[in-house]
Amino acid sequence: MTESIIIPDDLLPADGRFGSGPSKIREESMDALIESGKTYLGTSHRKPTVQNAIAELRESLGEFFQIPDGYEIAMANGGTTFFWDIAVHSLVSEQSEHLVFGEFSSRFSEFVAKADFLKDPIIVKSEMGTHPEVDVRPEVDTYAFIHNETSTGVFMDIDRPQGAANGALVLVDATSAAGGMAVDISECDAYYFAPQKCFGADGGTWFAVVSPAAIERAEKIREQRYIPTTLDFFEHLQNSRANTTYNTPSLVNVLLTTQTTKWMLERGGMEFSTRRCKEMSNKVYKWAEARDFATPFITDPEMRSPVSCTIDFAEDIDYTVLGKHLRANGIVDVEGYRKLGRNQLRIATFPAIEPEDIEKLLASIDYVVDRMRNNP
Ligand SMILES: *Cc1c(COP(=O)(O)O)cnc(C)c1O
Repeated sequence: MTESIIIPDDLLPADGRFGSGPSKIREESMDALIESGKTYLGTSHRKPTVQNAIAELRESLGEFFQIPDGYEIAMANGGTTFFWDIAVHSLVSEQSEHLVFGEFSSRFSEFVAKADFLKDPIIVKSEMGTHPEVDVRPEVDTYAFIHNETSTGVFMDIDRPQGAANGALVLVDATSAAGGMAVDISECDAYYFAPQKCFGADGGTWFAVVSPAAIERAEKIREQRYIPTTLDFFEHLQNSRANTTYNTPSLVNVLLTTQTTKWMLERGGMEFSTRRCKEMSNKVYKWAEARDFATPFITDPEMRSPVSCTIDFAEDIDYTVLGKHLRANGIVDVEGYRKLGRNQLRIATFPAIEPEDIEKLLASIDYVVDRMRNNP
């Protein structure tokens, strides 16, 4: 980066946060957080003020996901990575199958592989930038899917595998999908996520929409083998049912997640946010297709994520340099996922982001690329 490039004000997005998590938190949510000051933050999570807030959040999430009868919303501390350990201990009976097509889906399978009380997981992989198809097998008691592979920008539809063994569970890592992509919850048994992506809140909390079958499984496993208390799903569920958590939760996250959920619900819920994300991501892909210096990384349009747009750049446009120029202008966290190792930007189009800001971001990238090429 030899010279600084100053993007003209009228091209700049009003908010420069396009990262894939932690991601943009809406200003209205922050105002509500500050307003909640002395009466909510800093008060006991064992008292009605906070318990009512947790109840309201669980109800709002239930409404957002249109949960079928018997499904419940559980939450606790630790984020998605922590939930993987919970799943290893509390939800996989003996053997799981994992569709692996990026960093996050791979990590969960590695957690399972290390557990000596489980059989080696079955791993079904595909080329980076695609997703594999499920391989239904009678011995598999748990299928591990990922709705949106945030590291590559590939998404897959969530359907129960046809012909799976009786009682087999479908666990879905929905960390970056939940809230931004339509899902039929009855097609899975645990749809788990953390709220620092589509739900415009902070890290450190996990949520799971769980089916009666998943609850039954967790109850049975805790009778069969030792589970550390913090990894015992049923323990967390019982606390959630009482609108509390085993240990102190993040009150900030309870409030911020509720704010985003209610904002989406007021505008039509899942249908609203799905449409909004699709419109924004379509803009990004169309833009990339029309440029000689950019191409969508995912070649099959059917697999292109509506919330994580991965865009490859021409060789002469080094994404790290482009990223630095954008960052210097307040546009942050669009650099591609480091371990994927491509000359790539990754642009989040989560619900909290304004469609107009996506247009401005693209105009800003055009501006910087033009300067990089013509003023090297
Ligand atoms: C961000 C992300 C994770 C990790 O979430 P943490 O809350 O940081 O543990 C896992 N899976 C997917 C798909 C993600 O996007």
